[in-house]
Amino acid sequence: MRIVWILATILPLFTTAQSWQKLHDKAVVVDTHNDVLSSATMNGLDIGTDLKGKTHSDLARFRKGGVDVQVFSIFCDDRYGVGSAFWRAIQEIDSLYAIAARNPDRMQIVTSPAELEQAVKRHRLAAMMGVEGGHMIEDNMDYLDSLYRRGVRYMTLTWNNSTSWATSAMDETNRAFTVTPYGLTEKGKEIVRRMNRLGMMVDLSHVGERTFWDAIHTTGRPVLVSHSSVYALCPVPRNLKDSQIRAVGLNGGVIMVNFYSGFLDSAYGRKLQAFLTRHKPELDSMAAAKATSYAVNEFLSKKYPEEADSLRAPLSLLMDHIDYIVKLAGIDHVGLGSDFDGIESPPRGLDDVTSYPLVTRELTKRGYSNKDIEKVLGGNFIRVYKANAINLPPL
Ligand SMILES: [Zn+2]
Repeated sequence: MRIVWILATILPLFTTAQSWQKLHDKAVVVDTHNDVLSSATMNGLDIGTDLKGKTHSDLARFRKGGVDVQVFSIFCDDRYGVGSAFWRAIQEIDSLYAIAARNPDRMQIVTSPAELEQAVKRHRLAAMMGVEGGHMIEDNMDYLDSLYRRGVRYMTLTWNNSTSWATSAMDETNRAFTVTPYGLTEKGKEIVRRMNRLGMMVDLSHVGERTFWDAIHTTGRPVLVSHSSVYALCPVPRNLKDSQIRAVGLNGGVIMVNFYSGFLDSAYGRKLQAFLTRHKPELDSMAAAKATSYAVNEFLSKKYPEEADSLRAPLSLLMDHIDYIVKLAGIDHVGLGSDFDGIESPPRGLDDVTSYPLVTRELTKRGYSNKDIEKVLGGNFIRVYKANAINLPPL
C-alpha cells in the first residue's frame, strides 16, 4: 500500500520531467548569438575539444544542451576599422570552416533553410554565421556581398560603435549631440535594401532607436533582433522599448532574448559594482597581469562562489522577458539569443550551452503549449530566416 502511495506521488514528477526533456529533444533548438569564435577560437582554443571550465561552449556541450542550430557571431570591436575589420571577419569565418572540416560528423555549416533542415535531420549542429557590427564591411558594399558569399546570413547594423551610415544604441544614448547624422543615412538605407536583396537578415540588436526606426521603415523583409531583451524590465539602452517590440511583431520579425544578467536584471549593475569594490585589490593585480575578463570572472566566481552566484539574475527573470514579449507582440516573435561566451554572467542555473533544456522546463511550467514552446525554441527564427531567403530578386 505504502509503495503504491509513494509511486503515485513521484510518478507524475518523472512524467513531467520526461515530457519537457522529450519536447526539448524533439524541437529544433536555435540560438542566434554565441561569441565563442572571437573570445576563444581566435585565442587558439578549439571547440572540437572539451573546453569545460574555459568557455561556455564546445561541440560536445552544444549536443548535450540539445542545440540544433547555432549562429556564430563574427565579431571584432572598434579597435578594428578600415583596413583591418573586414580581414578580421574573414579570419573568423575561415576558422569556423576549419572547425567544420575537422568535425564533419558533428557539425555542418549551413547557408540556406534547406541545408539547415538537412543538417538537423542528420543530427549535425547546423552552424550559421552572423556579422556583429556594420564596421566590418568598412563602408564597402562589395565587402557586404563578399561576406554573404562566404556564408554570413545576418549582419547587426552596428555594434556599440556607430558606423558612418548608422548610429548605435550606445552612441545615441551617450554622445547625444556629437554623432551626426542620426539613424540610417541614405547609404545605410541602401545597405539595408542590399541585405534584403541578398537574403541577409537585418539584425537590429545594438542599434540606436533612430537607426531601429529607419531600418524598420526601410526593410522589405522581417527583421531579426539577435540578442536583446526588454527595456521595460531592465532599462539599458540596447534593450527594446515597448513600441519597438510591437514594431518587430508587426514587421513579422523576431526578438531573440539575451541571457546576460545585466540585460535582464535592473539591479545587476549596482550589485556588480559593490562586488567589484569589495575585491578591488585582487582585480587590480589580475588587470596588471593582463588576465582576460573570462579568467577574472572564473577566478572571482570560484573564490567567492556564493557572492558571485548572488549577482546572477534568477532564471525566472529570463522567463519574464520572454513572457513580456509574448504579451506585447505575440508568441510568433520571440526566441533565444544567449550571447554565451560574450557575457560573464548568465542567469542562475544556465551555466553554459548544456542548460537550454531548463528553458524548456520553465516554459512548460508557465503553461505554454508544446506548439508554442517549439516556436520559441527555434520555429520563429526559422520562419524569419525562410522569409529572408525566398523569392530573392536576381542580383
Ligand atoms: Zn553583442
